[in-house]
Amino acid sequence: MATDLALTEVAEGVFELRLPIPFEDGLVNVFLFTDGDEADLLDCGMNSEDSLAAIHEALDHLGARRLRRLMVTHIHPDHYGAAGMLAGPGRADLYIHRLEVPLVHPRYVELEQLVAEVRTYLLVNGVPADEAEVLSNSQRALSQVVKTAEPSVQLDGAELVEMGRHRLRVEWTPGHSPGHVCLFESDGGLLFAGDHVLPELSPNIGLHPQSTPDPLHDYLAGLQRMAALEPRHVLPAHGRPFTDIASRVDALTSHHRRRMDQIVEILNREEKTGWRVALDLWGRRDNLYEKRLALQEGLAHLQALAVDGRVSKSVTPDSVRWRRI
Ligand SMILES: [Zn+2]
Ligand SMILES: [Zn+2]
Repeated sequence: MATDLALTEVAEGVFELRLPIPFEDGLVNVFLFTDGDEADLLDCGMNSEDSLAAIHEALDHLGARRLRRLMVTHIHPDHYGAAGMLAGPGRADLYIHRLEVPLVHPRYVELEQLVAEVRTYLLVNGVPADEAEVLSNSQRALSQVVKTAEPSVQLDGAELVEMGRHRLRVEWTPGHSPGHVCLFESDGGLLFAGDHVLPELSPNIGLHPQSTPDPLHDYLAGLQRMAALEPRHVLPAHGRPFTDIASRVDALTSHHRRRMDQIVEILNREEKTGWRVALDLWGRRDNLYEKRLALQEGLAHLQALAVDGRVSKSVTPDSVRWRRI
């Protein structure tokens, strides 16, 4: 076993494995559930040599000869990227929420249609044409670190699934991604939170062609539901495990409420595009990926405000504009 294998037992027969994320300096936490010489895995990291080697090394170390199930919380590359290397015929069964399934092909396999949709979305939201061109193509890089797999089980939410010797309930928590799921074990009070509740970061909640239509409200409702489960241990996909979900949910909720108020101020009776709002809110950013995330995040807040009747949203084929009511 390599000395740098970051494997920790977090509950009986449940092991957290921290995997590197190529191109970023972060880590993603995946979880191995052992049962004799078999194991189940929650999330699988990106499709990179280092990351896959760590998974295989961890399986060896735990005496697991066969990977039985791969459950993914959502299809972002750091959670789903290696799916095609681990699941499929003769390998593990892939379990995934059914709202994630239709996102996979356009995002990672045949990108042309999604790139065109994203370009239109960027243009109608006020992004200048030259930047829209670059931003819409930034998606392409991600398909390099993802190998897709056909799902064996499509989840709706509320299913009981066996992971190792644990029985967990699937908690559908849309917002960060349409079919994001958490897993909850009531006996042990364990919540595997994916990217839904993170201890230090506020996960990106964005309105874009592949999001739900009102992702911020979806997300906030999901936070309340997860807090109401009163888990004793929260095991996030990024950062360290934590215990006090109530105060974390309060902090995340007030962060978004404050941001909504801030956006109402910024609109100040002037009609603006989402891009203008994002620039006024965050200033100019150089990193392409951050620019797109800022726009998506601003739009998710604007959409929630429009649903709440605090701002108006006007659309034509050429533009989407927001105004304070
Ligand atoms: Zn994510
Ligand atoms: Zn993530």
